[in-house]
Amino acid sequence: MSAEYEVTIVKFGTRQAFKSDVYLNWSIYGRPDEPIGMDYYFWVIRNDVRTVVVDTGFSEAGGRRRNRTFLVRPLDALAALGIAPADAPTLIVTHAHYDHIGNLHEFRNAQVVMARSEYDFWTSHLAGRRQFSFVSEPVEIEALRRVSNDGRLTTFEDEIQVAPGIRMLRIGGHTPGQSIVLVDTAEGTVVLASDAVHYYEEYEGDVPFAFTADLPATYLGFDRIRRLVDRGEVRHIVSGHDPDTLARFTPVEHGQLAGLAATIGRR
Ligand SMILES: [Zn+2]
Repeated sequence: MSAEYEVTIVKFGTRQAFKSDVYLNWSIYGRPDEPIGMDYYFWVIRNDVRTVVVDTGFSEAGGRRRNRTFLVRPLDALAALGIAPADAPTLIVTHAHYDHIGNLHEFRNAQVVMARSEYDFWTSHLAGRRQFSFVSEPVEIEALRRVSNDGRLTTFEDEIQVAPGIRMLRIGGHTPGQSIVLVDTAEGTVVLASDAVHYYEEYEGDVPFAFTADLPATYLGFDRIRRLVDRGEVRHIVSGHDPDTLARFTPVEHGQLAGLAATIGRR
């Protein structure tokens, strides 16, 4: 039996950066450095029987430490969508960076799904090295460990079906277990690329992001997503941080999330 979902993209934060900040070795391309916005998103996948939240944004503390501010607090945005942590939605963690697992500890009863290599990496000693610790928060990794200790963590090697119509594929590259989520909707299959594709320019121009744990895997990740698109298995790509993302889909025009959210496959 097939299942289709509505995907809601929520923009909860934003900042200004430069291309030399966000792209790896930008100088090698011989193009001018220019300002580029960076938006912060999480995603909700829903139908009549199921709610799955993909990533949980950054926390107050994690954001403050990096001078990031909220457009809306992730939990408030979820409340606006009628979702409370106590409802224990299934949580997909695409990777364990601070801007993707920041509010995980609020979901005390939720089942969490993430790649085994992601969990193993962030709970290892290497995660403390500066290039990695800059983009993670120890208390949040502790929260992940608690999820595991509570028996609420499901991990996978390369691919898992989270529910009918929702698949997660491990891509690696940006982080060891960076994953993408494929969701069946009335508009076709959507890939929530998270940080396998921060920017559309990154994917279309083959320009890897500044933070990458494994550069070959990053390139192979672009190839893998291109293959899914070429074969017609994916209709829409939803980026992890591109300011152009909301404009590509159906805007939410009313309520607390007006201007901060868009939907795909509205039911
Ligand atoms: Zn991110």
